[in-house]
Amino acid sequence: MKKLFGLIGCPVHHSMSPLMHNDAFKQIGVAAYYHAFHVEKEHLQDAVQGMKALGIAGFNVTIPHKTTIIPLLDDIDETALQIGAVNTVVNENGRLIGYNTDGEGFVRALCEELNIELTGKHILLIGAGGAARGIYFSLASRKAACIDLCNRTVDKAKELINERKIPVLSRAYSLDEAQQLLGNYDIIINTTSVGMYPNVEEMPLSLTNLKKGTIVSDIIYNPLETMLLKEAKRCGAITQNGVGMFVYQGALAFEKWTGIFPDTNRMKQIVIEQLGGKRHVNR
Ligand code: NAP
Repeated sequence: MKKLFGLIGCPVHHSMSPLMHNDAFKQIGVAAYYHAFHVEKEHLQDAVQGMKALGIAGFNVTIPHKTTIIPLLDDIDETALQIGAVNTVVNENGRLIGYNTDGEGFVRALCEELNIELTGKHILLIGAGGAARGIYFSLASRKAACIDLCNRTVDKAKELINERKIPVLSRAYSLDEAQQLLGNYDIIINTTSVGMYPNVEEMPLSLTNLKKGTIVSDIIYNPLETMLLKEAKRCGAITQNGVGMFVYQGALAFEKWTGIFPDTNRMKQIVIEQLGGKRHVNR
């Protein structure tokens, strides 16, 4: 009998996860099927109980359930607890265990796609929302020289820094302040939704002070090349879009479910084809 995996979120109809995971199951020869379930907020508890009752082997969790699912699970991995969000659930002998692979997925994509180490690097994170939390936490263990945050609402960046208390120098800035300081950073990561379809002409901040050779990563993958990446490339930066993060968070979830780390290059091709574009890692 096929094992069943899935995704719960709202909306999920455009999700690329079913195609990506079903192909990966086929590649490793595991009899399994992955399905996206549209679950409204008020049905989350019933959905989680249903997953358990039906013996679903594992599932992903997306907006708006990443935080609210925590009290509904049997156990939460330490990292997911510290991030305060779950994107992957494993059914371990009838107990649902929550994990977070988003932040680690981003960091693996950054280091492996661009072949870099983060030791001693000066990093700026733009944004302080859900995605920034996981990324900030995962970057923390990589011995960067500093991980600064800037956000439209500066207090949220301050809160994240104070709450995390990671053993790395971190300062909170407004977007205007960060714009002036861009030349100080080796890596700049956009975690805001600014520039995402349909607002493709928008940028979270101006890149006037960007220095040549800086790495600029944008976790948005629709469009594949945001205005921020276009502008950064024009200034001589090394750029990366959000496909890598999406693929690696999925690959890490897949590994938790099957014990096998899938072919991320193949996953990337599938995602990019679905998005209707070419792979974009410019070096
Ligand atoms: P979120 O929790 O809602 O956070 C949104 C962030 O964007 C906040 O920092 C917010 O600032 C900022 N923001 C929104 N509108 C803005 C504007 N007009 N000007 C300046 N800042 C603005 O969202 P999220 O879950 O972190 O997701 C953020 C983005 O990451 C989305 O585009 C999402 O698609 C993408 N994402 C990609 C992946 C991947 O696998 N590649 C994974 C997760 C998310 P305030 O705090 O001031 O509101």
